[in-house]
Amino acid sequence: MPLAADRLLLNISRLVTLAPGSVMGAAGPLGVVERGALAARGGRVVWAGPEAALADAVDVASVPADGRVDAGGRAVIPGFVDAHTHFVFAGDRAEEFHLRHAGVSYEELARQGRGILSTVRATRAASAAELRGLGEARLRSFLAHGTTTVEGKTGYGLDLESEARLLDVMESLATTPGLPRVVPTFLGAHTIPPERRGSPEGRAAYVDEVCERMLPAFAGRARFCDVFCEAGAFTVEESRRILTRARELGYLLKLHASQLGPSGGTALAAELGATSADHLDYASDAELDALAAAGVTGALLPGCSFTLSIPYPPARRLYDHGLRVALATDFNPGTSYSENMQMMIALAVSAMGMTLAEALAAATLGGAHALGLVDEVGSLEPGKSCDLAILNGPDERALAYHFGVNLVAQTWVAGQRAG
Ligand SMILES: [Zn+2]
Repeated sequence: MPLAADRLLLNISRLVTLAPGSVMGAAGPLGVVERGALAARGGRVVWAGPEAALADAVDVASVPADGRVDAGGRAVIPGFVDAHTHFVFAGDRAEEFHLRHAGVSYEELARQGRGILSTVRATRAASAAELRGLGEARLRSFLAHGTTTVEGKTGYGLDLESEARLLDVMESLATTPGLPRVVPTFLGAHTIPPERRGSPEGRAAYVDEVCERMLPAFAGRARFCDVFCEAGAFTVEESRRILTRARELGYLLKLHASQLGPSGGTALAAELGATSADHLDYASDAELDALAAAGVTGALLPGCSFTLSIPYPPARRLYDHGLRVALATDFNPGTSYSENMQMMIALAVSAMGMTLAEALAAATLGGAHALGLVDEVGSLEPGKSCDLAILNGPDERALAYHFGVNLVAQTWVAGQRAG
């Protein structure tokens, strides 16, 4: 019996499914179907395969004329799943970026009131409506570059009321049609807020506030709890306390781990069974083994290395240790101001020694693993959301090769054109 559908995407030169095992005609590690077609119903993929086999599999006659889309002989890929961003904030740090590149030291920039606390000040001062407008415009830019799922972190509020406002904004954006899927993460432990700095008592009081007031207040609203576990941010002991409390309250866990030095955060991610451990620039071999054994996805963020002019994350070591790898932008105003996953793929291939197949898989299915959403997004196969990007040419191998420009012509979320 042919499958019912309400949407067809036809005349695809190369359909990159990321599902070589479950799609007819899908070949190679990316599961590419040449001269492919895709059918969807109610926003979900019902069939993918060679266009020549479509009519036998799908009740094509039942699809209304306006539900049939001609891809024009272009390539189609799963929508990017950006599993690490900080996209809701106010203010701008362009001046700081250029001062840093002109050689002004981090200490001097901090003395001038720049750095993360300037974003905290601007974000606290912004209304929910202002933050929503900023967040929406950024999400539209993510969409225009082919991203269909965006994780977003709080962490520029750093008090109960301001952190709640950031979650309110993400919830409002998550329920607005025509935007990417939004996955909220609570990152109250991003940095110590300015009013709590300068004494061990203030610091301890903030960790108490995160554990006893914020985490209970936001349980069920944020999918993840994340902690910036790094020298200068939160210690392993503080991170363990916060994340253990979060786990008791039903949050899934993430960590910013081993970005700027061997922080111990990577081992903690394995110990606590985090869904992902992010950055990992300084993770040891033993820590990477522990992550792999615990099934933790490693999320690599090359935009930070590019922005800060520091070495790139050790992608090949993650593969050698058997880890699942995700690529993400870390979109944020201080260390990676890009919403473009195509740029991250270009950096992964040209600066991190990843193949295009590895980079494209990490930017889609890897991101889905890093969000615990692998049954929903990340590949184009029956049952998953019909989230995809139509490229502006016939071959996905233009990615990384033709860099610094936008190769996405259209983006679909749940079977509908959104960007
Ligand atoms: Zn981050």
